[in-house]
Amino acid sequence: MAVIPGDGIGPEVTQATLEVLQALENRFSLSFDFKNVEAGDGSKSKFGIALPEKSYQTISSSNACLKGPVGESAKQVIIALRQRLNLYANIRPAVTLPNVPSIHSHVDLVVVRENTEGLYKGIEDKTPEYAFSVRVVTKEASLRIARVAYEMAMKRRRRVTVVHKSNVLSSCELFSECCMNVARHYPKVQTEQMYVDNASYQLVKNPRRFDVIVTTNMFGDILSDEAAGVVGSLGLSPSMNLGDQFGLFEPVHGSAPDLPKGTANPLATMMSARLMLEWLAEKHKDDALKQASEALWRSIIQILRKRVFTPDLGGSSTTAQVTQAVIQEISTQNPS
Ligand code: NAD
Ligand code: MN
Repeated sequence: MAVIPGDGIGPEVTQATLEVLQALENRFSLSFDFKNVEAGDGSKSKFGIALPEKSYQTISSSNACLKGPVGESAKQVIIALRQRLNLYANIRPAVTLPNVPSIHSHVDLVVVRENTEGLYKGIEDKTPEYAFSVRVVTKEASLRIARVAYEMAMKRRRRVTVVHKSNVLSSCELFSECCMNVARHYPKVQTEQMYVDNASYQLVKNPRRFDVIVTTNMFGDILSDEAAGVVGSLGLSPSMNLGDQFGLFEPVHGSAPDLPKGTANPLATMMSARLMLEWLAEKHKDDALKQASEALWRSIIQILRKRVFTPDLGGSSTTAQVTQAVIQEISTQNPS
């Protein structure tokens, strides 16, 4: 699998996650083939390009990609990868976890974000006098993401909230119509529609009302950071970017240039790796991978129970201490 260390805290949290994956390799007799890939601000200053073609080739010929956050070149790296690899579904769970301080308890929702178009389509221009970014919404992409959301809801609490701003934006009108067309095929799922401004309010006031939120690209970007804040930290928010064949897994957060060295929470990246193992296990019908993904999840829950917390959770553990604690849990657990 391809690994993008990225910028800022990226290399630290990615290295921490690779150490944890190595512990899982040993424990479950797995063999991962990690291929380090350069992309991001570092690559841009070194080679003059944020996503060199060689990196793209390595990523696209891998079975999956684990990505650390990149910095200011996010548009040239992650937006480009999502569009070029057609990773149309961005799935971002937000769940309250044991002992983690949060403004609400018992939150368990997932943001399903359209990942290839909307305001991030890249049809833009900027002059000193004016600038524009065209918001593109197609029927094809909207139906596709709605199906992902409804399939997911069927495996969860069977509730979908379609989030848009159709009272103002025609592009949202089409998005809403497409979602409602898909909704008709899922009579067991309860559907509600909500304007994005209200949704961001409800997310803070009453987040337990949400199960699956389906929305367009930028709204999903913003609401998923908000959901991370509601459950405690961006340092605990993983994500998957899925297409029909390929998956790219990354934390929701960015390169966090404001963080002192060694203090970043590596769990969002580890939780993304866990989603990657689960996805690979499902795809290849591989039981050892499934066990590894479950062990990783249990280990993360265990260290949270023990309050091994980085500063974002109110603790004083370092990135390295959290990593060692997770590895310790992996090596002492019974393989279920
Ligand atoms: P950010 O997500 O990097 O940080 C937001 C806040 O969350 C900061 O206070 C930060 O300290 C905190 N935070 C983030 N990750 C954390 C972690 N693992 N542990 C503890 N605290 C954490 O957002 P930003 O500051 O707006 O962006 C910084 C850079 O990241 C920008 O250059 C942006 O382009 C880039 N970015 C990249 C991606 C990506 O690669 N997918 C995503 C978002 C932002
Ligand atoms: Mn974001």
